[in-house]
Amino acid sequence: MKMKIIGAIILSLLAVTQSRADLNGHFSSLYSAFGDHSTTDVTILSGPYDDPLGRGGTGDQWTATDGVYQFKMSIEHSSEFNLSIDTLIGRIEELPGPYIRALAEVSDPNEDGIAIYYDLGGAAAHGGKSYINMIPGAGSLIIAHEAGHTLEQVATQDDPTIPLQWQAAIASDNISVSGYGNGSWWEDAAEFSKIYALCLDGSQRPIVPMFGGLTPLEELHRLSPERFDLWESMLYPAPEPSNPRFQITAIDYSPTDNMLTLTWDSIPGEVYAINYSSDLVSWEGNLDDAIDAASDAAETSRSFDLASLGLENREKLFFRVEKQ
Ligand SMILES: [Zn+2]
Repeated sequence: MKMKIIGAIILSLLAVTQSRADLNGHFSSLYSAFGDHSTTDVTILSGPYDDPLGRGGTGDQWTATDGVYQFKMSIEHSSEFNLSIDTLIGRIEELPGPYIRALAEVSDPNEDGIAIYYDLGGAAAHGGKSYINMIPGAGSLIIAHEAGHTLEQVATQDDPTIPLQWQAAIASDNISVSGYGNGSWWEDAAEFSKIYALCLDGSQRPIVPMFGGLTPLEELHRLSPERFDLWESMLYPAPEPSNPRFQITAIDYSPTDNMLTLTWDSIPGEVYAINYSSDLVSWEGNLDDAIDAASDAAETSRSFDLASLGLENREKLFFRVEKQ
C-alpha cells in the first residue's frame, strides 16, 4: 500500500518536470487570458446561405472579414449540435490578426473556410492548405494549431525546402515544442504556430507578462530562434515584388446624382478594370474594363454614373480594381 502511494507521487513529479521542459509548459501561464485583449474584429459580409460541405452534407455558410482578409465560415446542418455563428466568431476574434490569413487561405471557391462538423472521426480538428475543419467544442488555440498546418502547407507549395528547413530548425536548438509536437515535424510546426500565437497575444496585452525581462515573443525567439524566424517567414510572407502598394485610396459617392468616383494607386502605362459585386463572392460585371492609368501621376481617378449602369438602387455594392 505504502509503496503504491510513493510510486504515484514520483510519477506525478515526473509529469510536471516533463511539461516544464517544453515550450508548451514554459508558456503555460499565458493560456488562461488568451484572446482577452485581442483587437481582431470580425464582420459578416453575407450569409447564411446553404452550401454543400467538402466532407459531405450541407451547412450554413457566411462570408466575413476582419478588415484585412476575407474568409468563409461554415456550420454543418446537424441535429447533434447547435453552435451559433456568434460563438464561432467569438473564438476567431481571440486570434491575433495575422492568423486570420489562414482562414482566407482555406476560403477559395469550392472551399468552406473554417468549417464546424459534428464528427471528424475522433479528431478535434484537421488543417491543411484548403481546409480547417473543427468539432463544435474546439477553441481558438486549436484554430491557431490548424492555422499552422494551413500556412506551412501554403508556404511549402511555394518553397518545397520548407520541410527540410523546419527539421533543421528542430535539430538546431534541441528543444521540444510539446509532447504532441514530438510526433512529427509537421505537428511540431503546428504546435509552434499555437505557441507563437500565445506569445504574440501575450506580448500585446496592456500588461505584458515578462519572462526574465523578456516579452513572451522575445523569450520564444531566445529559446527557439530558427523555428521562430522560419515561422515568421510563413506567417508574414513578403509581398510579391511585382506588386507594389496597390489599393483604392478614395471612394466618393453622391446619392443625389448617383455619381461614384474611385481613386486608386496606378502605374503609368498600365490598364485597369473595375469590377463590382454585392456580396464579394460573385463579381457580376465591370464599370469599365479598359481604363488607362494617368500618365503623369501615381494615382488614377474615374467617375461613373451608377444610374446609367442600372446600379442606382443597390443596398450594398463593392468595387475591385484589377490590373489588366
Ligand atoms: Zn495537427
